[in-house]
Amino acid sequence: MGGADNFIKFAPMEQNLFVYNTLSRTKEQFKPLNPPHVGMYVCGPTVYSDAHMGNCRTYISFDLIFRYLTHIGYKVRYVRNITDAGHLEGDADVGEDKISKKAKLQQLEPMEIVQKYTTGFHDVMRQLNILPPSIEPTATGHVIEQIELVKEILAKGYAYEVDGSIYFDVEKYNKKQDYGILNGRNLEDLLTNTRTLGGQDDKRGKLDFALWIKAKPEHLMKWPSPWGVGFPGWHLECSAMSNKYLGHKFDIHGGGIDLVPTHHTNEIAQNVASCGQNPATYWVHTNMLTVNGQKMSKSLGNSFLPNELFTGNNKILNKPYSPMATRFFMLQAHYRSTLDFGNEAMEASEKGFKRLMNAFGLLDGLKASATNEADIAPLRQRCYDAMNDDFNSPVLIAELFEASRMINSVHDGKLKIDEANLQMLRDLMNQFILDVLGLKSEIAANDDLPKVMDMIVELRIDAKRNSDYATSDKIRDGLQKVGFQLKDSKEGTTWNKM
Ligand SMILES: [Zn+2]
Repeated sequence: MGGADNFIKFAPMEQNLFVYNTLSRTKEQFKPLNPPHVGMYVCGPTVYSDAHMGNCRTYISFDLIFRYLTHIGYKVRYVRNITDAGHLEGDADVGEDKISKKAKLQQLEPMEIVQKYTTGFHDVMRQLNILPPSIEPTATGHVIEQIELVKEILAKGYAYEVDGSIYFDVEKYNKKQDYGILNGRNLEDLLTNTRTLGGQDDKRGKLDFALWIKAKPEHLMKWPSPWGVGFPGWHLECSAMSNKYLGHKFDIHGGGIDLVPTHHTNEIAQNVASCGQNPATYWVHTNMLTVNGQKMSKSLGNSFLPNELFTGNNKILNKPYSPMATRFFMLQAHYRSTLDFGNEAMEASEKGFKRLMNAFGLLDGLKASATNEADIAPLRQRCYDAMNDDFNSPVLIAELFEASRMINSVHDGKLKIDEANLQMLRDLMNQFILDVLGLKSEIAANDDLPKVMDMIVELRIDAKRNSDYATSDKIRDGLQKVGFQLKDSKEGTTWNKM
């Protein structure tokens, strides 16, 4: 049965999902090849140093996409690779392998570097509540597949060998295909705008790129091949691994926007040259993170690591920001917009996050009325409309703030909600806050805290009972200082984290 027939059978509200495709530069209706299955490949990190904030933004964005597709019923196979070999310092096949260089500097095995930074990357992903992908393949684990792919491209006549290295022939490819299809540039344009860099004398054309690189004797990570001992070019691994796990054609290929001109352009060329087709229907790219209006970079002194952000341990940070406040901050911008980090913006987001989670915490205790003044169905529809419009998380969050205002009004007795609408509101908040946005209460992270808080509240009640108001005020003010608010009412005392 064809994909189109399956799509019609599998037709809840996601038929209205539109995704911006870098290839067509328009929003297109999302029609997976083989519903309810969706194949998604996202270029993962090169594990030679700590994950940086830009990485975090990219993987939070694709986590949102992964979560939403799953939420609306797709079975997503999400492949996100680890680059542990072949990524040179310069994107144009120049310089040393980033991992080998670090290994030499630190006098470690390259695989010790890989292990250290892969573990660190996973830690940060976990802190940010980013779900692990379905498969996380590594470049070094797929050298055989990469060599096979080079052989195929050679056999089709789109590559040539020079002294043990294999290069992709861009000009020959462009005679039949459109090399610059992804960023909408023609070859003449690209040729005039490409600088000639040193160390690439072996290449015939200046846009040609390496598929396989002959290893110098001192090179640490190298493998035997039909062309001698060497290592794969950086772009090759993603073509080889997406082919292997998602097939020659799959639905979504993603990554940071900086990958468009070289890495993804070359990936498409490799796939078209070897199997005759662009590997993905939708190419999805996340925009950059800037700091106070500037590109984040070590040389500008404005870069900081995720752990520095979470601990506040960097001079450009006014205070620590929790992983969930950080995630919320990033989701408050659309993934295709640039996002500027600043202390004020972070503090505003942090307050918003707490406001949302406070309302969320009140939901369980709300009481239904016989009459209803809170119609949840239109709100629910607007939440789906937001996400169906190219995963528009900032609009979704604005709708959830609207839901929070309703919750607070019901809690304060100013708005009536009946049982059916209350249940819909609970489902809505649970699904969108926890499942889709991937936010979680940071109090819940410590299971013992509620017990400790209940005990403190108990002590305060005792003090009040004994008319020891000095102690009861001291407890309330002390808790307030560390961010806990007590609320006294007829039913007793409740607490929440501000
Ligand atoms: Zn890639």
